[in-house]
Amino acid sequence: MNKSTFPLMLLVMLGIANSTIAQKACTTLEKNAKLQKDFHSTHIDSSGRGLADNYYLWNPGSVLKVKFLSGSPKMQEKVKSFASEWTQYANIKFQYVTSGASDIRILLAKDKGHNSYIGTVCKMIGDYEETMNLDTTDFITDLSMKGTVLHEFGHALGLLHEHSNPISGIQWNKDTIYKNYWKWYGWDKDQVDYQVFRTVAASYTNGTTYDPVSIMHYSIDPWETTNGYSVAWNYYLSSGDKSLIAALYPKKGPSLNEVPRLSVSNFQKLNVQENKSKKGISLFPAFDLSAFGKSGKAYLVAEFYDTNWQPLADSDGEYSFEDRVAAFRSINTIPGKKTSYNKVKKDFEIFIPYDQVETAKDKGVVYIQFRIVLQTKDGELKDVYYASPAAFSYSKP
Ligand SMILES: [Zn+2]
Repeated sequence: MNKSTFPLMLLVMLGIANSTIAQKACTTLEKNAKLQKDFHSTHIDSSGRGLADNYYLWNPGSVLKVKFLSGSPKMQEKVKSFASEWTQYANIKFQYVTSGASDIRILLAKDKGHNSYIGTVCKMIGDYEETMNLDTTDFITDLSMKGTVLHEFGHALGLLHEHSNPISGIQWNKDTIYKNYWKWYGWDKDQVDYQVFRTVAASYTNGTTYDPVSIMHYSIDPWETTNGYSVAWNYYLSSGDKSLIAALYPKKGPSLNEVPRLSVSNFQKLNVQENKSKKGISLFPAFDLSAFGKSGKAYLVAEFYDTNWQPLADSDGEYSFEDRVAAFRSINTIPGKKTSYNKVKKDFEIFIPYDQVETAKDKGVVYIQFRIVLQTKDGELKDVYYASPAAFSYSKP
């Protein structure tokens, strides 16, 4: 499967580029374009500051396996040293591995920019693909390297950009930014709106206040704001960064602003079968699902695509998920519980009648994408797992 032809797997990058400063701005990588879709949550007060996607936090106490995909031993040692500062405050450990499974994979390379997936989104990335890029051309001084490493590891721990704080009050010099970003980067208005001016929903602040000295804040030049407001490059964890990460990954008790979280393991090849008696296709996904945090609702979804990886258009509103032809079942997640599906016997079936995937029949094959989606209490959908796509071939009449 080619990623570029499969819209759901497209990576959306967001961030600010700043040409007036030699160091490249970081971009965060999102697995799900709807990551920041607006929703509301109960305000929880805290002394911490900063933004985090609570749905993609690791479990407090986790030992995250980190693997370097490149870089000199000297450079790798520096990264380890700088990143370790987070673990002084977060109940998280980094275990550096050179083989086998890993949670975070770092590519140290030239001119690939700095970026990272957010928290457990890393688990949705292929085993051989980096989840974090660190651009060594920017590491002119140890201080600039330290600031960047801390920032990217902040993303890997689930933190979002601080300048996306809805209460930042940043008065962007929009017209000039539109003009300059078009000239410098070829970004149109929509791109600038999405990547520069967009703010996240208030719930992601975890009830914290705006923290311009957060390691997760970009630098802002005075020309970029109408009131001359500027933010210098931050190289150190702020007190807000430290208190927030400690509250999100506490040594004891629940994480701040706890939400349902899910982890999928041991997924086996998607079992797809013709179901002659029911005149359709039966799927038996086999995997283990572990739930954490709070109880919640999740959808186990099979979406159907044509041979060009275009989603089959839904015509009747039946067997539809997010306006795509799909079969799905919902489950309630119970924190602390691990559930096996279709492991010992076929105990969980997802079924779709042939007439719902009629348009694929002419080609003789339909592609199936199985994914697991968590629903927030306000209805937002958060991807937690994508299986390798499967194909179903129609038997010749
Ligand atoms: Zn960033």
